[in-house]
Amino acid sequence: MAARSPESPCMTDRFDAILITRPGEMEGQRVEVVTMTADELMPGELLIAVEASTVNYKDGLAITGTAPVVRRFPMIPGVDLAGTILASDSADWRAGERVVVNGWGLGEVHYGGFAGMARVKAGWPIRLPAGLSAEEAMAIGTAGYTAMLAVIAIEAAGVTPDSGPVLVTGASGGVGSVAVTLLAGAGYTVIAATGRIEEADYLRGLGASEIVARGELAGAPRPLAKERWAGAIDSVGGVTLANVLSMTRYGGAVAACGNAGGMDLPGSVAPFILRGVRLIGIDSVRQPIPARVTAWERLARELDRGRLQAMTKRIGFADIVGAAADIVDGKVRGRLVVDMAGAAGRRHI
Ligand code: NDP
Repeated sequence: MAARSPESPCMTDRFDAILITRPGEMEGQRVEVVTMTADELMPGELLIAVEASTVNYKDGLAITGTAPVVRRFPMIPGVDLAGTILASDSADWRAGERVVVNGWGLGEVHYGGFAGMARVKAGWPIRLPAGLSAEEAMAIGTAGYTAMLAVIAIEAAGVTPDSGPVLVTGASGGVGSVAVTLLAGAGYTVIAATGRIEEADYLRGLGASEIVARGELAGAPRPLAKERWAGAIDSVGGVTLANVLSMTRYGGAVAACGNAGGMDLPGSVAPFILRGVRLIGIDSVRQPIPARVTAWERLARELDRGRLQAMTKRIGFADIVGAAADIVDGKVRGRLVVDMAGAAGRRHI
């Protein structure tokens, strides 16, 4: 794509966007596809042509209105985007550079990735890591980058492949699928917990050695249960996380990164004070740039591309709203990548 200066005619190019509006306090939200120009985007130093995006669980919550993810209306949802800078008002960036942007309130308080163009602050993007296409970066997306942050966290807590197996919950979801793949690639023995036992072959294909039914982690948690894993990456929360903690081996570590099963944590302090288990919180949204660069560079180097392809379904801009409902209903396996060509900027005539 050709680089353009800030004064160039791209400001009047039209592109499509998904827009969430809330007409009145008492009314529900409305989701529609609108045509916009760059002048209508929110403030920021960088104008980006969005080439690829993805549908994460959080985007599903935002578009369906299931949880109050959107905190400013109207809002363009989409917490992730990858593309090319069209215009830069920052000395740190040039038109033509290829970038990835995740989090920072995109799709929550700042117009996000489900549009042909995005305008963001200069401090938000990272350069697209060498060896990754925009589409691959979005196949990874916030879900995969969060999985990498979780792997880094349990490594830093001293859990090595020799410590014992590592459990991944919500394993056939986006965070889970990437976590299984990364851990297996790094030599860990991976136990995958899933509510979709029919996906056992898929999970084995990503590198899981053992499959555990979600129901095994759904009972009333005991303060301490039989020690089963040295570490865990949990995207479910609630009773599941409480059970995971109660079954973590002495000195183990659990990275908590999601709430697909609940926001509560109905457990005991026993695993912490009697087994020295560590619970590490993972936030992807406000990670500082150096941690993002480390995580993305490791993803570019370490994530098996064949397995990434096997876990990814490609959809178009027109499919986003339907996919949002599916991900909230737990019907999406692995990752969704959105080819944003259908929303791309076109010259206004
Ligand atoms: P997905 O919907 O792709 O995966 C979630 C998985 O959790 C499902 O596939 C399912 O896996 C399992 N699950 C769903 N509902 C339940 C339930 N009621 N009880 C138990 N398990 C359930 O979402 P993502 O992987 O994109 O995200 C996972 C979680 O991580 C979400 O809560 C998301 O908001 C959070 N997240 C947090 C981030 C952060 O910064 N901390 C960043 C990214 C995501 P299966 O069918 O295999 O059981």
